[in-house]
Amino acid sequence: MDHLPIFLDVKDKWVAVIGGGVAAARKAEMLLRAGAQVTAFAPVLDEEFFELRDHPAFEYVANEPKQRELRSFFLCFVATGDSQRDEHYHGVAKQSGLLVNVADNPKLCDFVMPSIVDRSPVVVAISTAGASPILGRMLKARIEALIPGAYGRLASFVGRFRAVVSASVPTAESRRRFWENVLDGPVAEMVLAGNEPTAVAMLAEEIERGAQDRPIGEVYLVGGGPGDPDLLTFRALRLMQRADVVLYDRLVDPAIVDLARRDAERIYVGKRRNDHAVPQEEISELLVRLALEGKRVLRLKGGDPFMFGRGGEEIEKLVAHNIPFQVCPGITAAAGCSAYSGIPLTHRDHAQSCVFVTGHGKNGPIERDWSALLHPGQTVVIYMGLAQLERLMRDCMAQGVDPELPAAVVDNGTRANQRVVTGTLRTLAARARAAQLRGPTIIIIGSVVALRDQLNWFASERDEAVEPSESGLRSVAVDVEHLETIENEAGRAVCSQTMMF
Ligand code: SAH
Repeated sequence: MDHLPIFLDVKDKWVAVIGGGVAAARKAEMLLRAGAQVTAFAPVLDEEFFELRDHPAFEYVANEPKQRELRSFFLCFVATGDSQRDEHYHGVAKQSGLLVNVADNPKLCDFVMPSIVDRSPVVVAISTAGASPILGRMLKARIEALIPGAYGRLASFVGRFRAVVSASVPTAESRRRFWENVLDGPVAEMVLAGNEPTAVAMLAEEIERGAQDRPIGEVYLVGGGPGDPDLLTFRALRLMQRADVVLYDRLVDPAIVDLARRDAERIYVGKRRNDHAVPQEEISELLVRLALEGKRVLRLKGGDPFMFGRGGEEIEKLVAHNIPFQVCPGITAAAGCSAYSGIPLTHRDHAQSCVFVTGHGKNGPIERDWSALLHPGQTVVIYMGLAQLERLMRDCMAQGVDPELPAAVVDNGTRANQRVVTGTLRTLAARARAAQLRGPTIIIIGSVVALRDQLNWFASERDEAVEPSESGLRSVAVDVEHLETIENEAGRAVCSQTMMF
């Protein structure tokens, strides 16, 4: 951050504006709107000042400001329209100990004036720290469109009842929840629709309820998608902004965890220092305990919570304790990796069905009838298969599947460091090992893989064809195995290991 954004209270404080042109008039106007007492120093005032001259808080001095004179001011704006004079007055004001803003001269500014969207009492300030005023203006236009004019009225309405609510709704936690419900619900709708009397009556009812209610927590089981934060759903983002506590694990990208409410508590339940993930039972108990404390708990999972994510298990305990919860789907790794690798999972000329399988079951690597799954017209996607890649490919071929069937490994799909290794059942394992993939990865098998040549659109610098190398093979095998075991601990599918579409 180049500047510290603060909102100054200038009410009844004296502010000097040096200059009599348009730029000076704009500053004076803004200052008067914020309640300041403005003194304009200039030999003459342009007509832009015409309307300001009668303002009771405006004063005009036709003389040069003297250093001694400026000392009694709170702030100083310099905008004479002449850079040399600007520099001179900047020096005078600085010697008087003031914070100074010089129009169009960032180097001489102690503070900058942001673009603003004024929905008083709500004010949004935008600064690009001088990098691109045009971008600042574009953002301002977007935000103008986003925040209805009536939001100012809504903020004033809420402001009028703050003291009453603070006196009646007991804890800070329940007050926050109270206001979130009000601002997100029918009371706000009434205010925005201009029906304040009804809104006041409804608010009174809410206050009565808020005063009695014991806070009830709730749990949001949210899918955070495969990595790229842009792939979050609107609902996921909204719930992340509401949560008091966030429980997340290794597969959730840090950039996604960052999007949670800034003051939300974050609890990592992935791999601990001793390399063991927090046991499932403990996570479920934690969810229950936090919700019973009245918290809004967000359980953030990679991909989709119900896809090889043990989401179902985690919320079973909530049902037993009557804790309200909701499940927000996310883009599962197969969908994300398919899109970002340019490998459609179905295609009318290639595959009319697709199967999602896990390479790792509750009791270790799984045995499958691959010849039944890998038939023409069907794509197979394997989750959690990297550590078993050699064995999986060997099993497929041993069961009579064509060794030349195209197959791909997508590593860190949708992320900036995505890598895709393609080959066939015969070549894929060696190529993947040589590429030293670290996971998370999924394996896609089927003739759709060949479409990548045409449909690959996502540019990732790390995405290149790799030839097998013996030394690479041996050195990474252990590492990957180790990582994948941890991954399996966190994401083991228990009820079903295959999903048909
Ligand atoms: N619920 C998750 C899956 C959890 S199981 C989902 O819907 O995606 C963990 C497995 O998901 C990993 O072992 C890997 O196979 C896969 N996976 C998760 N994120 C991935 C990513 N960005 N790229 C490739 N595979 C990923």
